[in-house]
Amino acid sequence: MKMTEVPKDSGTEEKEDWTAFANAGFGETDIDLWDDLEAAPTPDSENETESDDKQEKDSSSTDDDWSEHYQSDQMETYLQEIPPAPSLPGLKHLLRMGTCDHCLGRIGGKKSFGQDIVSAGNEIRANILATDPELASARDGDSYCQFCEELFAEAPLLARLMNDALADYECSRLQIGAQFPKDQAEEEDLIRKRYGAPGSAPLKSSLVENVAKELLILNPKIKLVNEKPQILALLDMLTLAVNLDIRSHYIYGRYRKLERGIPQTRWPCRSCKGRGCMRCDGTGKQYLHSVQDSVGNPLLELFGSKEHSFHGMGREDIDVRCMGRGRPFVIEMKSPKIRSVDMAVVEKAINSQAEGRIEVDSMRDSQRSEVVRIKDTPAEKSYRIRFKLHPLGTMPAPVPNHRKEGGRRGKKGRRGKRNGSGRGKDEEAILDTDTPVEENNVKGNTPIYDEASLTILKKAELVDICIARKVAKSGTKSDLIERILNSPEPQPELPPLPDENKILKILNGLAGTTLEQRTPLRVAHRRADKIRKRQVMVVEDPVVESTEEGIIAEVSLRCESGTYVKETVHGDGGRTIPSVSSLLGADCEVLWLDVADIHAD
Ligand SMILES: [Zn+2]
Ligand SMILES: [Zn+2]
Repeated sequence: MKMTEVPKDSGTEEKEDWTAFANAGFGETDIDLWDDLEAAPTPDSENETESDDKQEKDSSSTDDDWSEHYQSDQMETYLQEIPPAPSLPGLKHLLRMGTCDHCLGRIGGKKSFGQDIVSAGNEIRANILATDPELASARDGDSYCQFCEELFAEAPLLARLMNDALADYECSRLQIGAQFPKDQAEEEDLIRKRYGAPGSAPLKSSLVENVAKELLILNPKIKLVNEKPQILALLDMLTLAVNLDIRSHYIYGRYRKLERGIPQTRWPCRSCKGRGCMRCDGTGKQYLHSVQDSVGNPLLELFGSKEHSFHGMGREDIDVRCMGRGRPFVIEMKSPKIRSVDMAVVEKAINSQAEGRIEVDSMRDSQRSEVVRIKDTPAEKSYRIRFKLHPLGTMPAPVPNHRKEGGRRGKKGRRGKRNGSGRGKDEEAILDTDTPVEENNVKGNTPIYDEASLTILKKAELVDICIARKVAKSGTKSDLIERILNSPEPQPELPPLPDENKILKILNGLAGTTLEQRTPLRVAHRRADKIRKRQVMVVEDPVVESTEEGIIAEVSLRCESGTYVKETVHGDGGRTIPSVSSLLGADCEVLWLDVADIHAD
């Protein structure tokens, strides 16, 4: 093999030497990559080239190789500048330093392929002691390895600690890591680069490997991995302790919410912020049930977990049901002791405890990356929405959600108490309640008079009011006032409601319409105020009923992801354009909304 010689300048010596070795390893070539460099061979480069060459054949190294190698002992000639291992003087120096067999094996540059570091170290020591028995005294009594600070001696203990800690957990993918005090790591790095063979294994990875080896002796079934572990066992080399980082277990599924008034995620009680109080019966929850708890709580015991997180592919409002194939989600069981659970058992546990409020299916084991997928997948959705028509101008204007006073499924929201207490951060962080607000009873713009206000009017003005109210306009001022006070309040003239055919035509005409939706008032406190363009793709099964309560319509809409559907119907005071309301020329009160299906997965 043709060896390329490199000039040995101080400082860059090691690096260049390594480069030369690497270059030589690529086989023969007539082109000398170092042609432009001035060759200046020195005794030690000669020696090292030799040893590098030997290292290539390490797997077949014999005692002959060793003796041949050590015959060129020129140590005495450069005592002051000890060359790194695997030169003989370098190895001798490692022995003299009190280096342990593990470190000798990993930094001596003599490890054969497949050989573990301790037997490589043994071999190096044995070979050197054969030529220089006096060095045996360097490693006896209270010897101290400067490279590892005797940590390799602790590997069996650490493995035992780890095995004990893992005993409670099911784990088919274990990763082992180690944490060293910074100065120890830096120190080792420094002396390893100074005395160790080029490319020596660092302390951390070698020690981790060694502990892993010991662990596999204790527990041969453990599967060690370098990424995506179920448990990361971290060796703390300062305190000689083992810390387990138990990664969550993820399960995918789809849920149907068959009852209104259930939030998707747990919603802390407004009064006590989750600590538990009289108002929430000590549950700490604003709503007794949530999809998250209905899915996660029955699994706590099955997975030996204490906590869960819920990740849905979007969420429906609390008063909206979710039907069809249901909504995809991932439930994250934290610090689980058990990971292999039959999904039929999982589904049954959830469905039986939810008592018809929630149903899950399609459950399977998942992983962290699916949480991201679930969150980022824009899914078209189909809705069924039912609403009542009111004459234009008779519905109250929408009120921002966070100004509403709390209350369960507040159809009977309290009036006028706009500066109520429930305006904390917690409330804002949660769902759209989306319950209609009955702020007042607007009946047109007809003024209502009392006696005092009438007394101050001139007689001519009273006459005008009598004409407007269609009562007699003769008599004294007090006659007129009495007559006005006794007359029934005039019914305002309301704009007429569209007929059934017009309603059906307008609903059908929504298909393909692009809406411009400004952020609804009810969510404006927590979402950027901007205009989004969203399309209604399909309209199905519009129905119009004339009931005693008035005209009620129902329709199915399939919409682009991110469409505000209630606003599509009621128009949000002109913030969604067009809307069913603006097209009909009537106010629309949403009675209920269902997610009929989520077109994903
Ligand atoms: Zn050591
Ligand atoms: Zn409470």
